[in-house]
Amino acid sequence: MKTYLPEINKVNTRLWMKKRIRQDETDRYLRNGRDFIDEKSINNDLNSARNIDAGVIRNILAKSMAIETLSPFETACLLNVTDPELLQEMAETAGKVKKKVYDNRIVTFAPLYLSSKCVNNCVYCGLRRSNKEVQRKTLNIEEVKREIEVLTGTIGHKRLIVVYGEHPDSGVDYIADTLKAIYSVKVETRRGPSQIRRCNVNAAPMSIDELKVLKNVGIGTFQVFQETYHKETYRTVHPADTIKGDYQWRLYSMHRAFDAGVDDVGLGVLFGLYDWKFEVMGLLYHAIELENKFGIGPHTISFPRLEPASNTPFTQNAKYKVSDDDFKKLVTVIRLAVPYTGMILTAREDAKMRREAILLGCTQTDAGSNIGIGGYAELLDKQQAKNQQFVLGDTRTLDTVVRELAEVGFITSFCTAGYRCGRTGQKIMGLLRSGKEGKFCKLNAVITFREWLDDFASPKTIEVGEKLIQREIAEIKRNIPDVFEQFMNFYNKTSAGQRDIYF
Ligand code: SAM
Ligand code: SF4
Repeated sequence: MKTYLPEINKVNTRLWMKKRIRQDETDRYLRNGRDFIDEKSINNDLNSARNIDAGVIRNILAKSMAIETLSPFETACLLNVTDPELLQEMAETAGKVKKKVYDNRIVTFAPLYLSSKCVNNCVYCGLRRSNKEVQRKTLNIEEVKREIEVLTGTIGHKRLIVVYGEHPDSGVDYIADTLKAIYSVKVETRRGPSQIRRCNVNAAPMSIDELKVLKNVGIGTFQVFQETYHKETYRTVHPADTIKGDYQWRLYSMHRAFDAGVDDVGLGVLFGLYDWKFEVMGLLYHAIELENKFGIGPHTISFPRLEPASNTPFTQNAKYKVSDDDFKKLVTVIRLAVPYTGMILTAREDAKMRREAILLGCTQTDAGSNIGIGGYAELLDKQQAKNQQFVLGDTRTLDTVVRELAEVGFITSFCTAGYRCGRTGQKIMGLLRSGKEGKFCKLNAVITFREWLDDFASPKTIEVGEKLIQREIAEIKRNIPDVFEQFMNFYNKTSAGQRDIYF
């Protein structure tokens, strides 16, 4: 195995940690020495936007339907709605906004954890450095490839979110080498070859130079979750003697990404650390800041809820745990407040919640997930909860999830064309806001669904999938007649075994 730091010991790990944070790459973005999270203003809006007239709420919903980002006050109005009838209208509008922007597509991916080593000590995380019960491992390149053989050759994934702890063993060179390795694996399946075509990355904040390295190896979305936008809470859950303890270094990760040319970024909050309404406002402030500064908002927003983690008492007793009803409400309000963004619902949630939340405007979900290091190829014996970051709520197979989605009219898209054709950043924002993205991507969704049915689906899923695909083809003929001929040409080639043809 290539060694990324010749000798890792306490001294050079400490040195490495010290060098991670480039203060000038935070300071340059501050305004009058302040960051863009104005807690006073968030609290004022949340306190004043109460008992708002139903007519005003309906006007706000009309703005969401016009695919315009809501203001903080408008978002606070929605967060404070309690009337069941209005809540129902909000939920229905959220579903309609999603349909208008993304149609009936759900993009599917798998999480891939490559290392459980981490220098940070986040109190909610099973991988925190003080958790001595974890058996730590960083996969070498050969082991990474074995994971990919299962993910793309047996399960049928085309898209990953690759997750890294923060450690000298998994620094930017390791990330770049593993991404190259992932893209290099091609596996023969029933009908045609399969490979991972898009790697999104969830990793620690990086410097501009490091982000340029990731841009060059073909990173998809770069995700860094702020975890909590509330500064005092942030300090409590991220000890000060860790890199993650620096709130602003993390807050400006996406600014640095844009400055490095990575214009496809994902935001997130770990719901359960602080008041969920405040956190939704924080996400909105972040989205507005990126829109104003770079003309591009977040490509995705993630909203994980705190899950139990082995030997991690914080996850059992958290004061701000979010109830199921509040979770559905926060999903609805995020959809309405940032109407163009992709929304990622993960397998942290159980099957029942996933069925309900997907109707509130989510666009992406994972399935057949395993978050153990080497979990897909079972490289670390059988996966054990004690070696994982947290425990998953839904471990159903991809085949089951695809079938269930098809039964309720959603087509699973394995499309990865967007970033490979340069449809990122401002280009994708324009397509999303104008509602053109949904139609355009429909074609690729159907083609990649065809691939997946032929290469991986069970007979039961093929039966449900075929009916859905026929309905989709009829819809394309009706609604986008000008490309129908070319579409059928691509579709027929795919049915004959050609792979990776896209618009
Ligand atoms: N180590 C990187 C970091 O912290 O930025 C990578 C991300 S971490 C492996 C992925 C995300 O999982 C975290 O950002 C956090 O939001 C979430 N997470 C951590 N502990 C969790 C828990 N107990 N339950 C649910 N999600 C958790
Ligand atoms: Fe490390 Fe990320 Fe876990 Fe924090 S959340 S301890 S940074 S892996």
